[in-house]
Amino acid sequence: MENYGRRKELRNKVHEIFGEGHNTEECFYKYAMVWMSRKCNSKCKYCYQDGDTVNNAWSYEKADAVTSLLLAEGYHVQPLINEWLPEFWDFLKIMKKCQWKEITTNGLVIIDRYKEFFPLLKENGITDIRHSLFPKGIHEKITGRNREKTLKAIRLSKEHGFRVVVNYVVTTETLPHIMEVCEELLELEIDEVQFMNLIYLGRAKDLQKQLLKTDDLRAFWGIWKTLNEDERFKNIEFDFQANFGPCPQGNHVSTKAAEKDHFCIAGKNSYGHFLYITPEDGIYPCFLLSEPQFKIGEVICKNNTYQLDYSNSQDWEKAVGSFSRKNCAATQFLMKTILSNQEE
Ligand code: SF4
Repeated sequence: MENYGRRKELRNKVHEIFGEGHNTEECFYKYAMVWMSRKCNSKCKYCYQDGDTVNNAWSYEKADAVTSLLLAEGYHVQPLINEWLPEFWDFLKIMKKCQWKEITTNGLVIIDRYKEFFPLLKENGITDIRHSLFPKGIHEKITGRNREKTLKAIRLSKEHGFRVVVNYVVTTETLPHIMEVCEELLELEIDEVQFMNLIYLGRAKDLQKQLLKTDDLRAFWGIWKTLNEDERFKNIEFDFQANFGPCPQGNHVSTKAAEKDHFCIAGKNSYGHFLYITPEDGIYPCFLLSEPQFKIGEVICKNNTYQLDYSNSQDWEKAVGSFSRKNCAATQFLMKTILSNQEE
């Protein structure tokens, strides 16, 4: 399968193929998300990547060796860095080697150093920059950063010819503001908005009340429909994370994949391999399933050579509960654990 350089496109292609009922001989994907550093200059409350908690980061040599090993095994590799601090600019060569086209940043590095940073991005084949933006009045509270700075970083990225994607984290607090932020993004000529469903597996207990419940998800899909039908937004591409569940509207590829029982692509399964590797060397079935009970392997070093060791692999699917690939494994696990605890 072609390397699209963006996770979303690989996932959509996989969903399209399985949704059309093709079988495993026609498509066997191998995909690894390799998280090489936790270091960050910020500490957002919602951080998916648990940024900055222990400041673990791989050396360039290790990151280069592990990604080369995965490429040699036929994986599409998505290298991931929490924040593109100057000490990691060398790692852009790894992005290029893996043909990965997008980076995510909180924008502070762009504001301070874009004159040096942007040419390096272009040299290394990066075409897309992802920024996270929250509604007015919420952005500061969640990210601890000035919202104007994010807007400035977005403008700079657009002015210098990058495709700009805005990550919009949907919580019970941000859900009612989606339309107003999208209208604001129209003026900034944003290329894409990706909706992310805040999902915590026990990491930030004080934020649990912000998790979307069934009614909120229904409301989200209503807004999704409005956005996709509104002519004003025709130049913005909208995308959503898998943990919103398959799109219930129209002929969306995720809906079709779920009908054929293959919506969740996590882990090593009969259709492909989807792996998530952390800076602490753990291998997991998905970036949303990185709790100890989901660990399926480890990056080890033997005789100065890095290897992927699956000898202590667990039957992670059992830890999800009654797991069905028609839905996101992480969401099913969340429903089983946190939401049931809340009701007690
Ligand atoms: S757990 Fe969810 S996000 Fe992860 S592969 Fe499955 S569907 Fe995708």
